Amino acid sequence: MTPQPFRIAAIPADGIGQEVTAAGQKVLDAVAKNSDGAFAFEWTEFPWGSDYYAEHGVMMADDGLDQLRDFDAIYFGAVGWPSVPDHISLWGLRLAICQGFDQWANVRPVHFLPGITSPLRKADDTKLEWIVVRENSEGEYAGLGGRNLGARGHGGEVAVQSSLFTEVGCERIIRFAFDIARTRDRRKLSSVTKSNAQQYGMVLWDDVFKRVAKDYPDVETESVLVDAMAAKFVLKPEELSVVVASNLNADILSDLGSALAGSLGLASSANYNPERRFPSMFEPVHGSAPDIAGQGISNPIGAIASAGLMLEHFGLTAEAENLARAIRATTAAGVLPRDLGGSATTDEVTDAVIEFLKIGS
Ligand code: ATP
Ligand code: MG
Repeated sequence: MTPQPFRIAAIPADGIGQEVTAAGQKVLDAVAKNSDGAFAFEWTEFPWGSDYYAEHGVMMADDGLDQLRDFDAIYFGAVGWPSVPDHISLWGLRLAICQGFDQWANVRPVHFLPGITSPLRKADDTKLEWIVVRENSEGEYAGLGGRNLGARGHGGEVAVQSSLFTEVGCERIIRFAFDIARTRDRRKLSSVTKSNAQQYGMVLWDDVFKRVAKDYPDVETESVLVDAMAAKFVLKPEELSVVVASNLNADILSDLGSALAGSLGLASSANYNPERRFPSMFEPVHGSAPDIAGQGISNPIGAIASAGLMLEHFGLTAEAENLARAIRATTAAGVLPRDLGGSATTDEVTDAVIEFLKIGS
């Protein structure tokens, strides 16, 4: 009997999001084919994004969340196009899904791949590997504040943008990160804040971190200010294992991590609803890159690695490991897209990964 397929909602959305999700789908279909019927993926594509906005005045269908609710996972491309203000496209689609499905944990691994020159230029680059865990539901992106407050400052308009930190929100993401740290060879968790300058929310975070750490005596801990952590990413990355930070700080640090690894185009991510009440969402970290969209030269590795995180989420651990190996084999063989200094097209990189999948582990 053929088992039920994993049902995946694909939302390619804008720009190179469409190219890289097509690449990721092709790779996962190859993974399923190699399984000889042990499992399958069933894709449903949703045409939401900036083109949809031009036609309908909204980024996704009004009942979009209801349409997505029963899928096993969401595979997302990228959102944003010059014709739509960024805050409208982002809140109207990607953040609507993250918040609507309570995807409060965002995981962004930083991997150094063979065959790629990192700006770090360390001799043993390819051994570097750490995970950024990002609080994904509150903090600096809580959307609290306003403009046109009736107040004037220095003769001009005033805007207020507040951060929200709750004890429950801090505790659940910190525990989530400790649980990951516990599974790794190096059992270490670094907590990042700016609690010397932001004395309410970030101090609450630090207090919760200290309290929760008592439940994980087997995990080494440190609390580091975000500016110092940015320097540490560059100067002592070999000391990192799992890094947990608030929404904005982790967003910036994970972009720094992927740039150190060679390109934003490499970075993968997962937005989890850890309770599994709603589907989780897997997406590359990069945006829609209007400057190169439609040319077939975008780097699909971030999207393909995100599909690998989806495999893990489905419990297909061996397949996820084989896919990670195929990605490493691809870059080691010098099949590199333009952002990594090579000349391979999106399709050529994708096909190389699929070839290396077949070679097996
Ligand atoms: P967002 O606001 O959605 O984060 P952004 O404008 O900050 O998007 P991106 O579009 O993510 O930035 O990327 C910035 C630049 O990096 C792009 O314009 C592109 O040149 C390059 N880039 C990003 N991702 C890729 C990729 N997958 N392949 C090749 N180049 C990429
Ligand atoms: Mg960006």
